[in-house]
Amino acid sequence: MAGLEESLRATLGGKAAAKLDSAFGLTTTGDLLRHYPRRYASRGELTDLASLRDGDHVTVFAQVEKVRTRPMRARRGQLLEVTVTDGRARLALTFFNKVQFWERQLTPGRHGMFAGKVSTFKGRRQLAHPEFKLLGADDAAKAAEFAAELIPVYPATKDVSTWDIEKCVQIVLDTLGELDDPLPAALRERHRLIGLADALRGVHRPADEAQARAARVRLKWDEALVLQAVLAQRRRAAAALPATARPARGGGLAAAFDARLPFTLTAGQREVGAEIAADLARDHPMHRLLQGEVGSGKTVIAVRAMLQVIDAGGQAALLAPTEVLAQQHFRSVSDLLGPLGQAGRLDGAEVATRVALLTGSQATAARREALLDAASGAAGIVIGTHALLAEQVQFADLGLVVIDEQHRFGVEQRDTLRGKAQGARPHVLVMTATPIPRTVAMTVYGDLDVSTLSELPGGRSPIATHVVPAAEKPRYLDRTWERVREEVAKGRQAYVVCPRIGGDDGAAASADADSAVSGADDEDAGRPPLAVLDMAPALEQGPLAGLRLRVMHGRLPAEDKDGAMRAFADGSADVLISTTVVEVGVDVPNATVMVIMDADRFGVSQLHQLRGRVGRGTEPGLCLLVTESPEGSKARQRLADVAGTLDGFRLAEIDLEQRREGDVLGAAQAGRKKSLKLLSVLHDRDLIVAARAEAAELVDADPDLAGYPALAAEMDALLDEEQAGFLEKA
Ligand code: ADP
Ligand code: MG
Repeated sequence: MAGLEESLRATLGGKAAAKLDSAFGLTTTGDLLRHYPRRYASRGELTDLASLRDGDHVTVFAQVEKVRTRPMRARRGQLLEVTVTDGRARLALTFFNKVQFWERQLTPGRHGMFAGKVSTFKGRRQLAHPEFKLLGADDAAKAAEFAAELIPVYPATKDVSTWDIEKCVQIVLDTLGELDDPLPAALRERHRLIGLADALRGVHRPADEAQARAARVRLKWDEALVLQAVLAQRRRAAAALPATARPARGGGLAAAFDARLPFTLTAGQREVGAEIAADLARDHPMHRLLQGEVGSGKTVIAVRAMLQVIDAGGQAALLAPTEVLAQQHFRSVSDLLGPLGQAGRLDGAEVATRVALLTGSQATAARREALLDAASGAAGIVIGTHALLAEQVQFADLGLVVIDEQHRFGVEQRDTLRGKAQGARPHVLVMTATPIPRTVAMTVYGDLDVSTLSELPGGRSPIATHVVPAAEKPRYLDRTWERVREEVAKGRQAYVVCPRIGGDDGAAASADADSAVSGADDEDAGRPPLAVLDMAPALEQGPLAGLRLRVMHGRLPAEDKDGAMRAFADGSADVLISTTVVEVGVDVPNATVMVIMDADRFGVSQLHQLRGRVGRGTEPGLCLLVTESPEGSKARQRLADVAGTLDGFRLAEIDLEQRREGDVLGAAQAGRKKSLKLLSVLHDRDLIVAARAEAAELVDADPDLAGYPALAAEMDALLDEEQAGFLEKA
């Protein structure tokens, strides 16, 4: 009796095995049995033929309606034309050879599955040369017997049809023997899960819906437990690594900083601050993710953590995703520290450190000084972009790495920086303003501890958001620019955000780091998205004539970016017309309005991030989402969702619901897509939470899982698959 490691070549023969390998990369019986049906069709079910789209490779269920042969015009021979129907719409099937043979089988009234590429010929939908399989038997009695049966529908290609796969799966299932179950028996009992062999039979050959469901739940558990067990081991291993303990010390910089803070910390900030302080005091590295809405006060927490490390004799590095943000962090951290950050200067405090800025574009002299300060330890805090990762940057004693806005960073970079601390690993704090739903955090950042700041500091002004339907109500757009003028007249400032830079970038600029992620290709407006370089002159000569406008985007030279930001920050510009470079972290409390052009081109979470730029001062913020997408469209619904709530977690979930699962996990987790076939981070929350708890318990009791060889083998397979890539480096 065969297990799951048999080669398909041996089980199915060379020809079938070669096809499965080249179509799906399946080489073992286990691979094939884990190629699960996409869905099930019940006998008698018909596909909605009107929904087919040209160019799609489809497998449809339909009934033969009529059949006719006619001579071909251009060539000798006959053409067979079969019309199939779902009871309403029709689809033509055309066969050019073996006409008599097909004609004998495809008799009117028969049901079948037909697979091929959809095209339109003379206004009619058709499948040319479809593959097909007839269902049921000719006699009605036998057909009725099959009526309740579920037909698995597999992901198929033009060379391998769903019924080819079904046939191979049946052969393998028939030879399947006893299997070692990766799920421990006690766990299966606790969660009422069926055994592996039953689950594999049930997922491929279910007698009814209930059996299919039980099989899928059980197989999801495999995926969830294996992943969580890997993460649990990793957390355990990371916790065992050595790090230099940096315990809090009274009378140092941290205490002086707290004393000069112009506000009191929120309860959440104190709580998270205490968690981090305790982590830093351990002689194992901290790996913590700090998530909190834009403006929830993460930077202050990071500065306190950095000062604790400096007090204990170490240095801290702060990484920002862009130069603009690195510069801004440099300014705001320097401001927050005041004399505490001016060591060696006349106006420096007695106990003080230095803050160094390192960016790719800075002048040689400034750069040399910053490098020296980092290497000598004179700079307690070194702030920069990825330039910080450059080889020649050395630290005297790097104790803490703070990574701001994690979602812009590759795992690789995180790892390189950690490697900068010789011997002991530095503590790592990752900050993100994109709220991550809990199960996604558990899956993607499963090896990190998570802290959340859920309240905004008091005195923060509310942000009102409105949708401006520019196509239906052009008056509303006029009113938008009037509102901008009114705010400027009151001494306030405004942002105008466009999805694109413009100039010669074409539509290709959407790959640009500071352009919108188009979540809206379902309802393309048919014109390229609005561009900064077009909007700026149009506004200058039109509705915003006479105001002081500045332009900002990722293609500007660094000094122009800095100049524009500075002009906007010090109030010498009224309106900043920009791409999404202002998405994260930019802090100008006097800005009260944000107008987002072609707002439907942005993702829900991205819009939420963007509007966080206004309402940061004492005046209420206003965000206007300008769109030409029609009322009732999906795009309009998304915008209404954003206008309807300020709850970032809720919006993050809406965002996830609209993306495909693979995208949710992101490029850095490419390997995950392969290992998570049934499990959905969106829909299987309870299961993931339960699996995480079970995995933690198993690994605590038996770190190497020596008592669970089948589970350990699956974990090895997962690690191999990911080439140890993500998991090794995270
Ligand atoms: P985040 O990094 O989470 O977006 P910041 O740390 O930049 O938020 O804080 C946003 C603004 O709120 C800053 O101007 C900061 O000084 C201020 N702030 C932070 N914590 C508090 C607090 N407890 N009370 C009042 N203002 C605060
Ligand atoms: Mg910030």
